[in-house]
Amino acid sequence: MIEDEAAGLAQAMVAVIEAEMSATAWQTGRDALSPPVAEALLSVPRHLFVPAALRASAYENRPLPIGGGQTISQPFVVALMTELLDLEPGCAVLEIGTGSGYQAAVLGRLAGRVETVELRPDLAAEAAARLTALGATNVHVHQGDGKLGWPPGAPYDRILLAAAAEPLPRPLFEQLAPQGRLVAPLGPPGTVEWLVTIDKDSAGKLSTRRLLPVAFVPLV
Ligand code: SAH
Repeated sequence: MIEDEAAGLAQAMVAVIEAEMSATAWQTGRDALSPPVAEALLSVPRHLFVPAALRASAYENRPLPIGGGQTISQPFVVALMTELLDLEPGCAVLEIGTGSGYQAAVLGRLAGRVETVELRPDLAAEAAARLTALGATNVHVHQGDGKLGWPPGAPYDRILLAAAAEPLPRPLFEQLAPQGRLVAPLGPPGTVEWLVTIDKDSAGKLSTRRLLPVAFVPLV
């Protein structure tokens, strides 16, 4: 795929995301992409995060298979979860479920540092190679069980779960900084999950908001 073609497809993808943001605003409270999130989505070449045979579909607003029964999330879901994190340039972010590395690359454009944990060694290695090739030096891929979080990088201002669980693993709450926010699909595997935001206040008290139904692969 030539660069101009990818840029045009990325613009079209962002337009579709904007329309879906607007349509779901009554559930999410977010009616549009903030300019930095839109810019991040335009700047990460999504076609480099999908298998070569699926490149032509990379900018369509749907999840795509990346091997091993796993998927790269739908662009709207990546955009919404990123938006809900309200990232600032100094933020330390933890992502559980690196998959292709696409979500981590988007987070890396907006945050200070991203630690991302992937269970499958093959996916972790491929994602790390892609992120290195793109010069995403503030994104660090770790192979391991994300249910444990990534203690060496804690605490985190923001945490994003890219796989569904219920209950959410306790170490993630412990590694969330005061005044931090976690965004996750919450629900038992095989059901429709709810996208939730969980805020931790300065005293450590948690408050949860349930936003909209989503479908994710399970945290295993
Ligand atoms: N964020 C990814 C999509 C993730 S799909 C992207 O942008 O492409 C969910 C991922 O979570 C899968 O790659 C799966 O292997 C991984 N996963 C499932 N259980 C996990 C666990 N316990 N720890 C870490 N990763 C896990």
